[in-house]
Amino acid sequence: MQTIHNYIGGKFQEPKTKNYLPIYNPATGEIYAQLPDSDSEDVELAVQSGQEAFLSWSSLSKEVRANYLLKIADGIERRLDYFAEAESNDNGKPLSLAKAVDIPRAISNFRFFAGALQHFSSESHSMEENAINYTLRDPLGVVACISPWNLPLYLFTWKIAPALAMGNCVVAKPSEVTPATSHLFAEVCQEIKLPAGVLNLVHGYGHNAGEALVKHPLVPAVSFTGGTKTGAHIASIAAPMFKKISLELGGKNPNIIFADCSWELALETSLRAAFSNQGQICLSGSRIFIERPIYEKFKEEFVRRAKLLKVGDPLDSQTNQGAVVSFDHYQKILSFINRAKEEGLTILAGGKAVELTGRCARGWFIEPTIIEGAGSESSLNQEEVFGPLVTLNPFDKEEEVLEYANSTPYGLASCLWTENLSRAHRMSKQLKSGIVWVNCWMLRDLRTPFGGMKNSGTGREGGWEALRFFTEPKNVCIQY
Ligand code: NAD
Repeated sequence: MQTIHNYIGGKFQEPKTKNYLPIYNPATGEIYAQLPDSDSEDVELAVQSGQEAFLSWSSLSKEVRANYLLKIADGIERRLDYFAEAESNDNGKPLSLAKAVDIPRAISNFRFFAGALQHFSSESHSMEENAINYTLRDPLGVVACISPWNLPLYLFTWKIAPALAMGNCVVAKPSEVTPATSHLFAEVCQEIKLPAGVLNLVHGYGHNAGEALVKHPLVPAVSFTGGTKTGAHIASIAAPMFKKISLELGGKNPNIIFADCSWELALETSLRAAFSNQGQICLSGSRIFIERPIYEKFKEEFVRRAKLLKVGDPLDSQTNQGAVVSFDHYQKILSFINRAKEEGLTILAGGKAVELTGRCARGWFIEPTIIEGAGSESSLNQEEVFGPLVTLNPFDKEEEVLEYANSTPYGLASCLWTENLSRAHRMSKQLKSGIVWVNCWMLRDLRTPFGGMKNSGTGREGGWEALRFFTEPKNVCIQY
């Protein structure tokens, strides 16, 4: 049995409690490792060690810090296969996906922010009164980075890279459900001799280690990605302490397909947007709206292709759909499916768990599920399921689909398929989401602002937005 440790002050350490939590492989249902059940004592040590490292780390030149980031990227890349295997075992996602997307993106996060850091500049405003203003952007100190289980290393490093780039020290808490690659990441930081205390990892439950970190008076900023309910709770702690917060939360994203779409591209990409990573992506297109003239034709082909997706062992290169992340999550997704059945909705594809044989006989697998007939106000079209479940919904008019699309409490991402340029611009402006993809999905330029409106969060990650978040702006006004 593998044991994961906290990483504090450049050393792997046991939690003060000496208690450990089990880690499951979702594809086999077996416990394969254990991780520290850390509490506020471990968080205290981690924050202290960040504080000790802060002055020297923040005083390094940009080039030196950028070089550390590049070395981290190289260190992950050297062990890409090993990282991908660990991610797949820990999360249940197909190994092919971890190899092609998750780990390469973590590498890009470090390379991107190593470059961005060196191009970052602050503003200057001259005045007629013979004065000049310039903005200083200093690092914040020891910041908290808390991440979820669906894209474990990808999202973890999306926060850590800009925080370190701008000269902050980090105390990070990965998801207790998928901590494996964060541990490997700490090994890389040790191997490349990142100065002790610059990056600290504290593992454990959110309500225990995570909350202690959010509450710590010497942590001025919290960058969080996870569920909307958790985000609201974190905000309620951080706001009266006047901490900076960046909250990347849930989504219930519309995927809108007009009759004039580019047919094959819309179909194939919608399938990917629906079921990649078992539908466990905050940006998944889980509410599919199809213009009436192509509704039946689209439905038929979409269902046919979904039924061809192979649900199987994540380590098998032929597998399209792996396991969902945990037994609790498996039950949650199945309960949504059962509710749809009780409400008499039509299950066009899937609708049940998949029982595999051999190594995966006790794993948590669910068929790609397509449901028809849910009203736009139904829970299936309003609540985030975060699994391989989508609804198909016909529409007649642009104004009507806009209303459906904007009708949930969420506002993370929208997808739009049309060859009508005016409609693409018109709708993009009116969709209430932080991201709009037209004729594509998950096409990511790391310079763009990333995040959601409404209950999908507050603040933006990516590019300058992330670099700004991890600094405190100060205006200096000099009259001459
Ligand atoms: P979660 O909110 O349960 O947990 C996320 C992280 O927060 C974990 O590390 C957890 O331990 C920690 N946490 C939990 N309670 C805490 C507390 N009281 N104080 C501090 N930390 C705490 O979310 P999850 O189930 O891991 O992830 C799924 C959710 O994440 C979905 O809602 C999904 O949409 C969302 N998500 C959003 C984005 C985005 O960019 N907007 C990206 C990925 C996932």
